[in-house]
Amino acid sequence: MDDNQYAPKFPQQALAHLSEELGEATAALGKTIRFGCNSFNPTVPPMDRELNIDWLRRQIRNVRDAYRALAAFDDIPLSAAQVDQDLSPPDMSDTAIESRTPRDAVFMHAAVREVQRARQKFPMPNTTLAALTEEVGELAKALMDSGEGDPKQRRDDIWNEAVQVAAMAMRVAIEGDPAFPNSGPGDNGS
Ligand SMILES: [Mg+2]
Repeated sequence: MDDNQYAPKFPQQALAHLSEELGEATAALGKTIRFGCNSFNPTVPPMDRELNIDWLRRQIRNVRDAYRALAAFDDIPLSAAQVDQDLSPPDMSDTAIESRTPRDAVFMHAAVREVQRARQKFPMPNTTLAALTEEVGELAKALMDSGEGDPKQRRDDIWNEAVQVAAMAMRVAIEGDPAFPNSGPGDNGS
């Protein structure tokens, strides 16, 4: 069978092909999450079976190829060089990390908001080390409870407690703790 007969001939077809491959990758990921990396589809004949993780890898490669194919169409403003850049290993320099990890930014934003809320509710003098320790304990409990109940709710609990830990760590770093000399901003000249 000539693979080329299925190659997209128009931009819309190329975009639809990418959409299809993304859907297949999502299906492979969903099965991998539900049944594990080392499981496989039991309805597939034994000789054709592959592990879920290998299925996922194959689908991710298909997504890559379908994305790369977009660059061949003049109507799609995407060059082969841009595709190569998008598919190349990430630049791990500090500035690149800042611009490439939106979830980090969301977390830090939540932590800053939590600091502002905590300062209003518990202004200085406040025992920030005790509060930080309490939040670490709550985060530990959220992690230990993570196997029970609604997974989405558990994930949210972990996120929220981690935000509170980060917020209290910020208060310790910025405002210090009145119980400890030289821990506050006035003590070190900053
Ligand atoms: Mg808490």
